[in-house]
Formats: sequence, structure tokens, C-alpha cells
Amino acid sequence: MLNGKTAVITGASRGIGAAVAEKFAHLGANVAIIYQANTDKAEDVCRRARDLGAEAEIYKCDVSDFDECKKTVAEVIGRFGKIDILVNNAGITRDNLIAMMSEDDFNKVVGTNLGGCFNMIKACSRNFIRNKGGRIINIASVSALLGLAGQSNYAASKAGIIALTKTAAREFAAKNICVNAIAPGFITTDMTESLSADEIVGRIPLKRLGRPEDVANLAAFLADEASGYITGETIRIDGGLAI
Ligand code: NAP
Repeated sequence: MLNGKTAVITGASRGIGAAVAEKFAHLGANVAIIYQANTDKAEDVCRRARDLGAEAEIYKCDVSDFDECKKTVAEVIGRFGKIDILVNNAGITRDNLIAMMSEDDFNKVVGTNLGGCFNMIKACSRNFIRNKGGRIINIASVSALLGLAGQSNYAASKAGIIALTKTAAREFAAKNICVNAIAPGFITTDMTESLSADEIVGRIPLKRLGRPEDVANLAAFLADEASGYITGETIRIDGGLAI
């Protein structure tokens, strides 16, 4: 259970982040729902979290901008008093082969996915150190492990997240802060809607795409006291895709 905990979830207006926010609310946490553009969807998630009994607020924040992260974290602490759990989930794709990929598409994806994780961890670090405890959960991807063609920017950003996770785990361990990553395979969200499900399922040993709730269940375990001896780890949740 996450009763009395406050969780900040980035990219929580849709997909995996929305499922994590609802799961955490169901488990008794208060949730700060961070999003970039889709206010209506963030408000829907907020309403559902409140219906589950949680205190919930939405915060519009571009995670690739450190000053916005700093300001948002201060607002969340002003509202909830502290932050116990940070889920760095916000992410984007701009797929293309390296020869065709623009510098802007490379930098945008790395700046959002990897830079966003760094910015939020840095913005929350004083809070976590002061509290002498906490959980940081970073959403990576099997793309980092497999190196999928057309995803040089995305795979590099996600591999960076795995390295950032290990480094942060070492830096924060003395303060009882566990830092772990989740590497999902193909999960049914807006991000994967243009892909051919039949072709992908053929490559997955468990013969189905993942659901956002599958990832939310793992995030809930990593946020719980029960996982308190795990840090610096990356856990695949991919139906066996990257075995
Ligand atoms: P999604 O449905 O496309 O949702 C992306 C979320 O990120 C939205 O809430 C979006 O907010 C937010 N976001 C995007 N850029 C942002 C920014 N600069 N600042 C703040 N928020 C921002 O994605 P998803 O499929 O749920 O993916 C969530 C995470 O899981 C991502 O990190 C993704 O790389 C990772 N992942 C997904 C899969 C998959 O198969 N779906 C597999 C492996 C890893 P708005 O709604 O406001 O735009």
C-alpha cells in the first residue's frame, strides 16, 4: 500500500503514466499528474484519481526545461508537503533512419526522454535527501537493450536512462533512496498505435502486446516498501521480447 505517500508522475495524462497515476491512487497515494499539452486528458486522470479517494492535482510542465521542473516541484511540495515517489515516464519518439534523421529530432528526443529524467531527479533531489528516503522509477525501454532500427535517438535516450538510473542509485543509496528503471516492450498506447500489432505479436513469446496496467503493476511494486532492497536495477516487462 502507498497510503500517505505523495507520488509525482510525469507524462501522466495518457498511456502508461495515466495507468501508473490511477494504480498509485488506488493504493492510497496522493498523485501529482505532470503533462505537457493535453489538459483535458490530465483533468480526466485527476478526476479518476480523486474518485479513488486520492488527493490529486495536475501540473503543466515541459520536463525538458529544468526551470519548469524546478518550479513545478516547488509547487507540488507546497501543495503536498513532500514527494516520496518520482516516476519519470514522460517520453516521445521521432523515429527515422540515422541517414534521414534531423539533428533537431535527435536532440528533441534525447532532451525530453533523458534530459527530462535528469531535470526531474535534480529538481527533486533536495526533497529526497531531506526526507532520507524515497523511490525514483525511470521508464526506459527494450529499445535500449535491442537497438531497434529507426530509433537511434530514442534507444540512445533510453540507454542513457539506464545508466542514469545506476548512477543515481549509487549517489542516493546512503539516503535510503532506491532508484530503478523499467524497460517495457510494446505497450498499447498512443505511442504504438501506428505499429502493426500482428507483426509485433509474432515476435513476442507471450503472444500479446502489453497493457499500461502491466507496467503500472510493476511500478507499484518498485514504489512499495516490499522492494526496498532493490536499487540500480532495470526490469524488462515485454512478454519475453528481449530474452
Ligand atoms: P504516450 O501515450 O505517447 O504518452 C506520453 C506522455 O508523455 C503524455 O502524457 C505526454 O503529455 C507526456 N509528455 C510528452 N512530452 C512531454 C514533455 N516534454 N514534458 C512533459 N510531459 C511530456 O506514451 P506511452 O506509450 O504511455 O509512454 C510512456 C513512457 O513509456 C515513455 O517514456 C515511453 O518512451 C515509454 N515506453 C513506451 C512503450 C510503449 O510501447 N508504449 C514501450 C517502451 C517504453 P501530453 O498528453 O500532455 O502530450
